[in-house]
Amino acid sequence: MKIKIKDLGEFQLKPGSTLKDLIPEIKKISKELPVGFKYNDTYIDWHYTFNENISDNLELEPIFPSDKEALVFLRHTASHVLAQAVKELFPEAKLGIGPPTEEGFYYDIYYERPFNEEDLKKIEKKVKEIIKKNLSLERREISKEEAKALFKNLGEDFKLELIDEMPDSKVSIYSQGNFVDLCKGPHLLSTGEVKAIKLLSVAGAYWRGDEKNPMLWRIYGTAFFSKEELKAYLDRLEEIKKRDHRKLGKELELFTIEEDIGPGLVIWLPKGAILRSIIENFWKEVHLQRGYQLVYTPHIALRDLWKVSGHLDFYAENMFPPMELENRVYQLKPMNCPFHIYVYNQKRRSYREFPIRYCELGTVYRFERSGVLHGLLRVRGFTQDDAHIFCREDQLEEELIKVLDLVIYFLKVFGFSEYKIFLSTRPEKFVGSPEIWDKAENALKKALEDKGLEYEIDPGEGVFYGPKIDLKIKDVLGRFWQCSTIQVDFNIPERFDIVYIGEDNRFYRPIMIHRALLGSLERFLGVLIENYAGAFPFWIAPVQIKVLTITDRNVNYGENVVKILKKEGFRVEADFRNEKLNYKIRMAQKEKVPYMIILGDKEESDQVISVRTRKGEIINNLKLEDFISKIKIENQPEYLLNELS
Ligand SMILES: [Zn+2]
Ligand SMILES: [Zn+2]
Repeated sequence: MKIKIKDLGEFQLKPGSTLKDLIPEIKKISKELPVGFKYNDTYIDWHYTFNENISDNLELEPIFPSDKEALVFLRHTASHVLAQAVKELFPEAKLGIGPPTEEGFYYDIYYERPFNEEDLKKIEKKVKEIIKKNLSLERREISKEEAKALFKNLGEDFKLELIDEMPDSKVSIYSQGNFVDLCKGPHLLSTGEVKAIKLLSVAGAYWRGDEKNPMLWRIYGTAFFSKEELKAYLDRLEEIKKRDHRKLGKELELFTIEEDIGPGLVIWLPKGAILRSIIENFWKEVHLQRGYQLVYTPHIALRDLWKVSGHLDFYAENMFPPMELENRVYQLKPMNCPFHIYVYNQKRRSYREFPIRYCELGTVYRFERSGVLHGLLRVRGFTQDDAHIFCREDQLEEELIKVLDLVIYFLKVFGFSEYKIFLSTRPEKFVGSPEIWDKAENALKKALEDKGLEYEIDPGEGVFYGPKIDLKIKDVLGRFWQCSTIQVDFNIPERFDIVYIGEDNRFYRPIMIHRALLGSLERFLGVLIENYAGAFPFWIAPVQIKVLTITDRNVNYGENVVKILKKEGFRVEADFRNEKLNYKIRMAQKEKVPYMIILGDKEESDQVISVRTRKGEIINNLKLEDFISKIKIENQPEYLLNELS
């Protein structure tokens, strides 16, 4: 029978033989051997047997080591090597599943106790031995009964469960040496092809993610075709670790989350609080300038409010449970929207008043399972930089353009100039008429196009009440973070029956836009910390300048300099301790203070200052007034904006 391979030609294959049999022939044509193939969306490896009469137009697409998809073959194989190593060292361990991932692979393994660092080292050593042995992989298709007998014999209870759920009558197994695993593949030819591998960590993971099931140990690893690629990946991991906002948050004394206070509940420490308040003040100022009105609303409300708003129908599992007081039931707010409806409803509204824009730094509480909480990025209490805009249908597009303008302004001010934008359209379950959805989707599209912004469409991913735009910002490491969201809503105005009087004196329903620019202050601060590795732009740095004296003789001069800087409104700290200058510099450096002013006898007698920047640049003989005029410019929120353009 004939097998076609794209770009390589046609080959003859005896029925019942594997693609491996073609290797000598392909080697004659192609300098490089593919790692495997793809047919439609299925990966096919060299171990694949063609039994059936295959159709004439079957054409395999070869995948070469340099193709991104080759990593799937590699990492599948790597996870089998990992499982084999564990079984050799810990024969009583039972295997769960071991898939490749975007970043590497893992294997979930049951064992009587957690694997520790020491185990991990041993396992990695064994992994490398198995690679060195260069064991060939073999694929076989067997009946489910046969497979069950095989894995029962091996004591692999989890595999039995998996076999039971497989739809086909036959399953495929892969073996290498005396190790065998249930797997669809694809894999490489032999273990020796795994050129660069590293085991990274162990974490607990419930079997199939269900807390009622036994806890397995998930061993994470990564693998590449070359040592260089592995090194580049590990260096990046190191960089990510260094920037981890939980670690920096502690070191820089920005925030804390305490077990005794409650998971996912953030305490802002003085340095984090000043940073947050600078951002909040700036946020309020800009919103007032752009025609928003500031409001404040309570953190709890009567449960009935959440019935009217629909949250109890659509959002209950994310809400904290009810509490009863004086025979009335209250619930913590998961969103600010219903409150803003009441602000709107204080008066009879006319078409002339629109658009009406209410903004609030509103603290909301949402139940997130403890397993998914993560520093400032996933929390249970957070402050959204929220706003609700009420407008007429004919104003929707213009309002959306204004919101987009504002989003981009804010992100740029904080140094983010690259984004990915997603437009989520009508889902299967929706409220409102299809016509109004089309109108809203078109308004969102036109607004994006008007701004010249590229976007992707996420079909059917809109919220039930309206379409939305999500913005993911790119950080210095090229990671994307979901922060901003703009949503059009036809539902809440309906539910609360809010109206305005039109030009013809009849009642109309306004459209509501929900939007958050930064997302939440918690999340945004987390992203900021990681993006800047804690070395914040001057205007938001909790401590902007640290004044260091060289000897005790310079303390008076130092105090005078501090006084002048404080009077100018800068956040200054003094380090006049009787310590070596190098030590004081090291401390200030660790705190990532943008500028250090160093004062010794020479500076004092010449009435100048020496400045050392966070990057280690030194400027001597500077007049204090000159330094102040320079940092006054840097202290402008728009400083980065100008730097970027
Ligand atoms: Zn596999
Ligand atoms: Zn809202």
